[in-house]
Amino acid sequence: MALLDTLQKEGDMLIAGGFEEDRIPEVLDEIFTEAIRRHSSDIHFKPLEDKLLVYFRIDGQMLPFKEFEKLYHHPIVARIKILSGLKIDEHRLPQDGKSTFAVDEKEVDLRVSVLPTSFGEKVVIRLLEKSPNLVSLSDLGMLPNILMKVQKHLQATYGMILAVGPTGSGKSTSLFSMISTFDATTKNISTLEDPIEYRIPNVTQTQINTEIGFDFSDGLRTLVRQDPDIIMVGEIRDQKTASLGIESALTGHLVFSTLHTNTAVGTITRLLNMNIDRYLITAAVKLIISQRLSRKICNFCREQYAIPKPYYDLIQTEVGINPENSFFYKSKGCEHCNKTGYKGRIGLFEVLELSPTIEEMIVSGKSDQEIEKQAVKEGMIPLRKDALYKAVTGDITIEEALRVMT
Ligand SMILES: [Zn+2]
Repeated sequence: MALLDTLQKEGDMLIAGGFEEDRIPEVLDEIFTEAIRRHSSDIHFKPLEDKLLVYFRIDGQMLPFKEFEKLYHHPIVARIKILSGLKIDEHRLPQDGKSTFAVDEKEVDLRVSVLPTSFGEKVVIRLLEKSPNLVSLSDLGMLPNILMKVQKHLQATYGMILAVGPTGSGKSTSLFSMISTFDATTKNISTLEDPIEYRIPNVTQTQINTEIGFDFSDGLRTLVRQDPDIIMVGEIRDQKTASLGIESALTGHLVFSTLHTNTAVGTITRLLNMNIDRYLITAAVKLIISQRLSRKICNFCREQYAIPKPYYDLIQTEVGINPENSFFYKSKGCEHCNKTGYKGRIGLFEVLELSPTIEEMIVSGKSDQEIEKQAVKEGMIPLRKDALYKAVTGDITIEEALRVMT
């Protein structure tokens, strides 16, 4: 950080010395290095009337990183344009470019987007690690008995396992952590993705390209002719992909995919709405993992506090513990968490196993509420309970838990 600090302190003097042509590359290298070391997903270069602000997005939050005087704006944007193969003299139209950057033996793709604004060009750089560290299944944040349930279903040789939730809920991370439990040297594992986020050794990964008419269902039709054992379809978006996926799951393949639904039980309704036959759903689908991502409290500055009275009922009825002997947690921020109080993220889960009773209920057209009730009776932990449980064990704040529950 030495150079950036110098720039900040001696800004005026350095400007007078006309250093920027020489030193802007170094400044940018330091910004990229710092962003990557802090696991940022994006870097924002935001011009204002009189200055340029640099933000990092870390764990979903925008954090201010540095401020530059306005006259650095142009040289910085110009340098980024050179690095990413963009036109330097184009200032009126948006541009998209690409570059790569390596730090600590880690290679990162930089996806550069330039947008003209009233204060000049704004640049946002998405950072994509070429081979991000896969999160292992046991580190996703599943409670031990849930994890065992999932592991049991990974022994199957056919059937469908679904991860569901809104965008950004960690569905693909979960799928990859499951897929990486298999030995890819002895099994034919093939994926269809949009985009390819993780690269896994020995796994055949294919990028979907809807612009040229190559979608998930086309890819899936071809994949099943490639003698696969395990198939991952990035997302089930339409009836064609859903029915091909179900068919593959019933013909001796283990199929993993994701769907945009809010609850585990709601996924069945969603498949029914896609005109998939009830019998086929119950025959093919084995496990539905509904999930959310939550910011994890920093372990280094975490503090417990007594559960406030208004929460007593909720904790007693939902988690089934005595709130008087339990705590919530908060954190005020320290150097380990960039003063945010949060470090990393944790998954919140609701895992539905399709037991014979539940299969019967689906076939006979029982309501979501009835199925959910039965699932809870058979041991399913609803998402809201998992969230509250993680609030009393100190993984997340009660505010995060309530946010996820709504
Ligand atoms: Zn901290």
